[in-house]
Amino acid sequence: MTTELRFENDDVATKLERTTVFISRLLTFTVVVGHVGESEYFMGCLEDNAALARDVLEALPGAILLLDADGVIGDASQHLEELSGYALTDLIGQNIKKLLPRLSVDSTIFACTDSVLSTPPPIWTERDLGLLRCDGSELVVDFKCARLNRDKRFSTVVSLAEAGEPNEHTSADLAKENQSSEIEAAVAAAIAQSEQRFRLAFEGNMAPMVFSSSAGVFLEVNESYCQMSGRTREELIGRDSKHFTYPEDIGISEEVNKRIVSGDADQVRYSKRFLHKNGRIVMAEVSICSARDENGKTLYFISSVRDITEERALATQLSYQALHDPLTGLANRALFDDRLVQAKSRVERHNELGAVLLLDLDDFKGVNDVFGHLIGDQLLVSIAKRFEKVTRTSDTICRFGGDEFLYLAEGLTSPDEAEKIAGRLLTALDEPFTFDDVHLEQHASVGIVVWDSKSTNTNVELIQNADASMYEAKRRGHGHLVVFTPEIRQEAVSRFALVLELRQALTSGELQMHYQPIIDLSTSEVVGFEALMRWPHPERGWVPPDVFIPIAEQSDLILELGAFAMHEAVTAASAWESQSNVTKLPYVTVNLSAHQFHDRDLIPMIERELELSGLDPERLILEVTESVALLDISETMYVMEHLNRLNIGIALDDFGTGYSSLSYLAALRPRIIKIDQSFVRPKHDLKRSNTLLEAIVTLGNKLDMIVLAEGIETSDQLEHLSELHCDLGQGFLWSPAVPNDEAVIMLSEVAKNRGEK
Ligand code: C2E
Ligand code: CA
Ligand code: CA
Repeated sequence: MTTELRFENDDVATKLERTTVFISRLLTFTVVVGHVGESEYFMGCLEDNAALARDVLEALPGAILLLDADGVIGDASQHLEELSGYALTDLIGQNIKKLLPRLSVDSTIFACTDSVLSTPPPIWTERDLGLLRCDGSELVVDFKCARLNRDKRFSTVVSLAEAGEPNEHTSADLAKENQSSEIEAAVAAAIAQSEQRFRLAFEGNMAPMVFSSSAGVFLEVNESYCQMSGRTREELIGRDSKHFTYPEDIGISEEVNKRIVSGDADQVRYSKRFLHKNGRIVMAEVSICSARDENGKTLYFISSVRDITEERALATQLSYQALHDPLTGLANRALFDDRLVQAKSRVERHNELGAVLLLDLDDFKGVNDVFGHLIGDQLLVSIAKRFEKVTRTSDTICRFGGDEFLYLAEGLTSPDEAEKIAGRLLTALDEPFTFDDVHLEQHASVGIVVWDSKSTNTNVELIQNADASMYEAKRRGHGHLVVFTPEIRQEAVSRFALVLELRQALTSGELQMHYQPIIDLSTSEVVGFEALMRWPHPERGWVPPDVFIPIAEQSDLILELGAFAMHEAVTAASAWESQSNVTKLPYVTVNLSAHQFHDRDLIPMIERELELSGLDPERLILEVTESVALLDISETMYVMEHLNRLNIGIALDDFGTGYSSLSYLAALRPRIIKIDQSFVRPKHDLKRSNTLLEAIVTLGNKLDMIVLAEGIETSDQLEHLSELHCDLGQGFLWSPAVPNDEAVIMLSEVAKNRGEK
């Protein structure tokens, strides 16, 4: 018995190999097409070709066996039954060594190792081997083994023939061989066509595709797969797929493969991460199935892959965007709501306390107004960063809206802890903020609501309660924190009731306008009146405008109040002419709220009122606070131009309390600047306030604006202001705001005095 392994370059071997390559490809092909769902047409062709291939297989002399990479029999021709005495079904799935125990060919020739593939001769022969038959007897056979193709096909084909029998070239068999060569020629044409179709379906497929052995070794890959992986076919084929899998996902792949091999599933779709050659992680969706032999044993895997890296990144980005504030990156309202629901159930389970803190930045609007939205945004981002730093890992900080933040705390054992957290957040703002050459101090007010396991408050109620507490904190001044109590809720409710009553008061004529005289400090004459709203409430008594105006500003009600004030003031002023005998008619100043100033109907409304009353527009002055005027400077300039054209003047109210900007002041050119009462009647730091007072008066004089000092109560204050050359004054020293009939009397007095002079 010869046992040498040698290559024979004879015709039969080549034909044998070609035919079996064809068969194996047909098998592959059938699965591939089934897997990627190509056209019906393909399937029809393949079924025909597969039948033809089977016929050829059976027609060939000797027994033909198809082996997988481990030498396991995947398929065989009927001749094998005759040779071995076994039923084919008993042999498929068995290792060839069961039949040929003394086969000395190294079993690595069945595997696609590089060394085998690089061996040029594709056929091995071993003669006079003992084939162990079913009945225990031994038959002497010759063994030929060929790889299925030369470009790294995935399996091998074996031919077994009784020693000295048909697969040897003997003259006796020559006639028979000539006969079969005609069949083979016909088959060759079919092979060429099938080859081409296979290439189209596999190579040209846009989806990355792979064939791999049951052990996970790459047998074949297409171009798309190479592109996805960043590697050439040579770098992939013959290598274990786990080398190209993200380490954490190797287990997932193995699990899926196991399920398929065990027959648990025919096809599995799952996600895994691959490693691109450049180190990048490729997220992919893999659809994998297997080719099985007649017994259902997995011969190899076929995978179709979809690169979903960008899709996933987009989905992640979208879900991030849906839950985070785009400016600061903090949680948004939606995420906060979700966390709050979870926190509530944890608080209930563990019988602890939770807290919601609502932080509102103090006078943040002024920053935007004066320094612009860019600085405003930078400030918000910096604040968010500082807040994040002091946020405990178990808690959530969220940007609730413009300049409002929500903080969710869990696992508290006492309400004091919530106050401590609020303290930490406020302290985080202590250090001033610097952006280029802009230095800003920014503080906040905090409302806190604490709940326990018995609380039945909804998310909305908790936030409303925190909001009511924050409102109370603001009322107490800047930088305060207030913990929610039922009284606060009560106040919030009564505030709400007040809005309803205010609306009612407006329609029922309860609201009135009063007029406070404005005095020329050099002549002591009344030159104008400031119209101030009054609300004598039937039960509550006089409700101060400081209380009801801010409430009205939170809704459109302020527009109705503003229109009412304008109508009353303009009507009253136009009548002063006939009601008193003054020669120099006084003007009336009307306060405008922020809401009104940016209302499109403002100018038309004023025009209507002027026309109706016949008041000379020169005698109307609108009072706007600095921060309102600077809210949107381009819009302000537009409104100002209109007012100028109508000859209506502007007084900049509460001057010195906002973020005065000299360049804007010069651009706006208000007719009057009204120095805030806090400079006229300083409570502390007298020296500094006086210096500022002097500076403001000088500034106004220099810019050719009329300077008016508000809130003059004593003759000392008057004297001081006169010395500074302040033009006008207003205050209790002369009179508080009085009803119109009293204002008329006051005017008559002026006329009388002048006459007496
Ligand atoms: P304001 O525009 O700064 O009005 C001046 C406030 O100072 C008035 O308070 C006035 O009564 C008060 N005042 C005048 N002289 C003195 C003084 O010598 N000493 C003291 N302590 N106070 C003095 P009032 O009337 O309570 O108004 C408060 C605020 O309510 C006003 O501040 C204004 O912002 C707002 N307001 C009043 N009426 C209207 C209105 O018709 N429309 C709008 N939008 N706001 C109004
Ligand atoms: Ca005013
Ligand atoms: Ca004022």
